[in-house]
Amino acid sequence: MRKDSVAGSVNCPMPFTSLGLSAPLTRAVAEAGYTEPTPIQLQAIPPVLRGQDVMGLAQTGSGKTAAFVLPLLQRLSDTQREKPRRVRVLILVPTRELAAQIGEAVRSLAQHLPEAVKTSVVFGGVSINPQMMALRGGADVVVATPGRLLDLVDHNALRLSAVNTLVLDEADRMLDLGFNDELTRILALLPRQRQNLFFSATLPPAVQALAETMLHEPVRIEVESTPATEPSIAQRVIEVDANRRTQLLRHLMKENKWDRALVFVATKYAAELVAEKLYRSKLFVTSFHGELSQGARTQVLDEFKASRWEAVITTDLAARGIDIANLPVVINYDLPRSADDYVHRIGRTGRAGESGLAISFVSPETEAHFRLIEKRQGLSIPRERVVGFEPVEVVDDASATPPVNAVVQGNGGVKGKRPSKKDKLRAAQGR
Ligand code: ADP
Ligand code: MG
Repeated sequence: MRKDSVAGSVNCPMPFTSLGLSAPLTRAVAEAGYTEPTPIQLQAIPPVLRGQDVMGLAQTGSGKTAAFVLPLLQRLSDTQREKPRRVRVLILVPTRELAAQIGEAVRSLAQHLPEAVKTSVVFGGVSINPQMMALRGGADVVVATPGRLLDLVDHNALRLSAVNTLVLDEADRMLDLGFNDELTRILALLPRQRQNLFFSATLPPAVQALAETMLHEPVRIEVESTPATEPSIAQRVIEVDANRRTQLLRHLMKENKWDRALVFVATKYAAELVAEKLYRSKLFVTSFHGELSQGARTQVLDEFKASRWEAVITTDLAARGIDIANLPVVINYDLPRSADDYVHRIGRTGRAGESGLAISFVSPETEAHFRLIEKRQGLSIPRERVVGFEPVEVVDDASATPPVNAVVQGNGGVKGKRPSKKDKLRAAQGR
């Protein structure tokens, strides 16, 4: 006990061993550098081990992946597995990069298990043949984006009739309109009796109702936001005219000399345009979005993780799940559509107990929309201006700098900013 306790920590840390995980798993956890379970891991591992359904809500960067991977690996290694292997665990995710990342986490945490766990990662945008070859002889765990999973089923490369556990990571995203048809088809291929694990940092009420119809007597875990669990992300807002944002971004990058920055814009076109302008002004900047080839996407992300780019300009493609260690700053060049998207975007920084910075550019036209985001998040962030970049556009009364308590006042004129079904569909197609 004495040896385990971390200086400054009030609670005695609970080691992974006391959660009922076997030595090969706790060894892998130690090698990953995890000294104690995070709150979501503490709360989710026991019910997942018992085979219960779980709805797990916890902040970005709080270790949700290991919260489901560790107990699932334990359960797999406790069961007799016949050959050829039949898919026991299916993990569905919204993007290819997230599939690759979770596949790596599974492989790394499973590495010391006495009986090897065969993990296949499948996603679109790359040739299907190597994935079909890899699935010969079956797999224990499949991590997939929905479209390619269905293609593989259609090619008879994979059967889902023996799946014991379905995981939806970024569950609210997986359950929204964009994935509806694919998810419905996949669910029809799974055994009715199975364990369902849904994880996310956000869960809008409408999606929660849908999730509840799919879960069987779920254990609902919600890691409350406390100063100890909340990611430590400093949030700032800079007022700037829309047409000066690229120059302001360049100025901020030069001034602050961040190791690297992840910059969100609204469209693929804007990502290209902003990246090109900055690159021409001698900053090492590129773009990352759904229009690039998968090879280019993988390369940009790998290079960004290795700090080879000063900034990557991206769309909401990079907003979910992607884990980049030591990312110092996220910038909302264009504001996200919803408060939930804001949470996911800024959650790319400040992960695993690190601290981070999120800066949002707000112009007179987008001020009202940002106020809505603040209201939803219970925030009130002071507006800043940067010398030389003060807004000069004519500001009407409705969008003038808000009084301190503006957040609790009415928000006339912001209704139209909420994403419609059409918006969501468009966003989904953009991925
Ligand atoms: P989430 O899915 O909640 O956003 P991830 O599962 O991607 O978070 O984990 C975020 C980061 O925290 C990863 O780099 C992961 O390796 C690390 N991590 C996970 N669990 C622990 C732990 N118990 N101790 C330290 N780091 C951890
Ligand atoms: Mg995650």
